[in-house]
Amino acid sequence: MVRRCSYCDEEGHTLKGCRELKAYNKLQASLPTPDVVHIGHPLKLGHAQPYLCATKKVRWPNKLWHDNKFTDSLPICEECLEVYSATTGKQLKSI
Ligand SMILES: [Zn+2]
Ligand SMILES: [Zn+2]
Repeated sequence: MVRRCSYCDEEGHTLKGCRELKAYNKLQASLPTPDVVHIGHPLKLGHAQPYLCATKKVRWPNKLWHDNKFTDSLPICEECLEVYSATTGKQLKSI
């Protein structure tokens, strides 16, 4: 049987020797830990910005993104909240 990497699906190496996986892990480890959650733009408005405030798209480390306890513990971006209440007239409570 041919050895095939279960990450990149290339033959000749396994997960342990995968360069792509190593590069991915390195990138993930280099991402800063987010300290705030931004409110995403509703898609129907067709905005090019990712968030209500002017912040550029933030890359989250995958393991934190899927960690609900962590995301729930973060405050919501003040600017995003302001824009939200200004455009919808509704108040969204900060955590
Ligand atoms: Zn591989
Ligand atoms: Zn924001």
